[in-house]
Formats: sequence, C-alpha cells, structure tokens
Amino acid sequence: MAALTPAELVAVWEAGHKLPDCEKALVALAPALPGTDPHHLRALSIGARNAHLLALRRDTFGPVMRAFVKCPACSEPLEFEQDIAELLAGYRAPAAREFTLHIDGHELSCRMPDSSDLAAASQLFFQEEVAEALFERSVLDVRLHGEALPLTALPHDLRLQVQAEIAGRDPLSQIAIPLGCAACRHVWHAGLEIVAFFWTEIERMARAVLDDVVQLARGYGWREDDILAMSPQRRQFYLEAMA
Ligand SMILES: [Zn+2]
Repeated sequence: MAALTPAELVAVWEAGHKLPDCEKALVALAPALPGTDPHHLRALSIGARNAHLLALRRDTFGPVMRAFVKCPACSEPLEFEQDIAELLAGYRAPAAREFTLHIDGHELSCRMPDSSDLAAASQLFFQEEVAEALFERSVLDVRLHGEALPLTALPHDLRLQVQAEIAGRDPLSQIAIPLGCAACRHVWHAGLEIVAFFWTEIERMARAVLDDVVQLARGYGWREDDILAMSPQRRQFYLEAMA
C-alpha cells in the first residue's frame, strides 16, 4: 500500500473531518487504493477494511502504534506500544461475506457487516444500539426446523453465539490489544478503535503540514500546491534555511 503523501493527508483531512468515522475510513483509503471502485471499498467487511487501514497507517506513519490508556482496575496511566505487523500476521481476508450457520436446529443466513451497515448505524448514540442494529442487518434469515423465525424470537444465548460467529469469521473486525498494568498487575484486552486512532494522527499531521505551508509561503512566496508537493525532508530543509 502506498503511504499517504503530504498533499493527500491534507486532502483526506479536509474531505473527512466532518464525517462519521465509518466515512472517514473510506476517505482515507481511497487515495491509497487508486482505481478501486468506491462501491467495492464500501462493501469490504469491517475486518478487511481495518486490515487496509492498519497497512496504510504502517506505511504512512510507521510500524508501531503508541498511545496512552488508563488501567481499568487502578486508573494508572500506561503507554502501550503495538506493532502493526503482529496484528496483521497471518491475516487473510474472508473469502465470502455471506455464510450459513447451523446451531441447535436453527439455520441462519448471515453476512458480515460492511461500511454501509456502519453508516446506517452511525446516527445511534449507544454502543448497545449500534451492536443491535448491526446484528439485525447481519442476519438475513432465521429458520427453526425449516420454519421461518423472527430474529426477536432467537434465544439470548444463541444470539450471543451468532454474534461471536460473525465476529470470528471476520478477523480484525474488532481489534483487541493485550495489556498489563505494572502497578496493579491487572491484565486485560483493550478494544482499539483504529479509525479514531488513525484519524487523530492524520489530523495532527495535516495541521503540521499546513503550518509549514504558512511559514514557507510567507518566507519564500511559494504556492500552496508547490509546497505540498515537496517531500517532508525538503520542506524541513527550507524551513531551517529561513531560521
Ligand atoms: Zn492497574
């Protein structure tokens, strides 16, 4: 995957900053996957989309993600470092998004959620509501011993099984980072929201690039397009030459 150039970072930030996260993800991936049909991009399973985002993040900002989290047991702040190669090791995009499950006499036709499902749920404010909306969109048909069954009639433990199956068949749809607290020895898995994480970095870098544009335009009178086309090294050289 090609890294986002400085000009692309600024364009991605500008195009996506008011959009929900599910759309931000597609805006960021579009320049990195030139020639990809936007419908195809939108129809990627969430895990496949996340695999692309992780690869793009690695190629644009480097192989290691760093962030601060609070221990949920004792609130101690700790810095985590996650190598993207570890998350992508052995990853294979699912061959098909639709599949059939047979559990306890039930036959369920399911599909892995994609970006249009996330978009449909993006107006909901509570995680439980989002999960419920995605689940309803993921289960296309339920039959019990051949008879059609409404989704609401599914027993609770069966629902949980189906949800786990859907997530399990789409690796990276949920990214869990194993963490341990040095202060209290608590260990847990923290769910990483890769779009929000990556977007924070995109925004920070886009603003830094535009700060450079302002300084170089003031100092040398160059046009924005010409400055954005420069490599970071060249921009840095001209900035230092002004000092
Ligand atoms: Zn702790």
